[in-house]
Amino acid sequence: MTSPVDVLVIGGGQSGLAAGYHLRRLGVEHVVLDGQAGAGGAWQHAWDSLRLFSPAAYSSLPGRFMPAQEREVSPDAAHVVSYLTDYEKRYELPVRRGVWVSAVRRDGDFLRVETDSGDRRARAVISATGTWTRPFLPAVPGRREFLGRQLHTVQYRSPAEFAGQRVIVVGGGNSGAQIAADLAPVAELTWVTRRPPRYLADDIDGRALFDAATARRRALDAGRTDTGGVTSLGDIVAVPPVRAARDAGLLAAKPMFSRLCATGAQWADGTRAEADAVIWCTGFRPALGHFASLRLRGSRGHIATVGTRAVDEPRLHLLGYGDWTGPASATLIGVGRPARDAAREIADLLAP
Ligand code: FAD
Repeated sequence: MTSPVDVLVIGGGQSGLAAGYHLRRLGVEHVVLDGQAGAGGAWQHAWDSLRLFSPAAYSSLPGRFMPAQEREVSPDAAHVVSYLTDYEKRYELPVRRGVWVSAVRRDGDFLRVETDSGDRRARAVISATGTWTRPFLPAVPGRREFLGRQLHTVQYRSPAEFAGQRVIVVGGGNSGAQIAADLAPVAELTWVTRRPPRYLADDIDGRALFDAATARRRALDAGRTDTGGVTSLGDIVAVPPVRAARDAGLLAAKPMFSRLCATGAQWADGTRAEADAVIWCTGFRPALGHFASLRLRGSRGHIATVGTRAVDEPRLHLLGYGDWTGPASATLIGVGRPARDAAREIADLLAP
């Protein structure tokens, strides 16, 4: 086992880097462990045409503006990967790549972090493992009977491989809308959403989403009525490709089907859609399996937190994941503040 370190950050995507930035500023010794070979976290796995909700200037981590992408209002995922790669280098963040964490356990004054390249110990841990490693597929009758191809958002790359095919896209969020818009011109598309698609106003971008999430967190913290946060504005940000497909009448959504069968989907009223492929754009769950042995309280797959700190383990902070770890903390613009708060709390905890 290597000698103990003050803080181990698990996950080197945007949240882990934001944590590293603030720990470094406070002079707290730390190492960031990331399971992947390259920088960029989940952005490395995005489909080719994915566009950010916001212009580059509103998609920045603490300390450094994301530069604009040439000729693009909404940057693509490759632009985010190069921004994060540069960010990591610029701040000389101590990221160890290709290190997969399997478990975190209590070990006296330390937390023991078990990895595929040996165990390490730390006085505090920040978990920033995101969600992309845990794609969620709903339990739908007949899912195993379907003989065509089934894939999740995380496996989708580009419309080319579906040209001329009958494709059902399931999901009324941003990934569902963007992938449906991608496929509509080349495939025979059926877009299925649980409720009618709710587009945000065309001029809303990431800054407005951040403001809505912040207002919600403040209201909840002050015991006032839930404002509904981002979801009160809608589910789908009308990024340019989605807006274009919607305005061309290519994005008519059908309600959710009642079951899959061997050759496609069936609705309760007897209508059917034959399909070669079903793409599940049905979201992700927080990747928190490495904490199983700590037996932390939680609900809906979350861990109970005060701010970013785990209620039942003060040496553990959670960053990213969703609004439950800070307003808009699963966004580039939103993660800076909770990262700063987590770093400060840990610095106080470790102070002699
Ligand atoms: P991740 O990027 O997932 O990074 C986590 C890292 O931890 C990964 O490298 C992973 O491999 C690693 N890891 C996981 N488990 C382990 C383990 N056990 N051991 C070691 N390493 C591990 N956000 C915006 O700000 N603006 C946008 O416009 C925007 N658009 C989006 C559009 C879509 C369609 C989607 C799906 C998301 C969008 N987001 C956007 C959301 C958000 O920015 C991402 O979810 C973001 O990637 C979360 O960053 P993260 O660092 O928390 O997690």
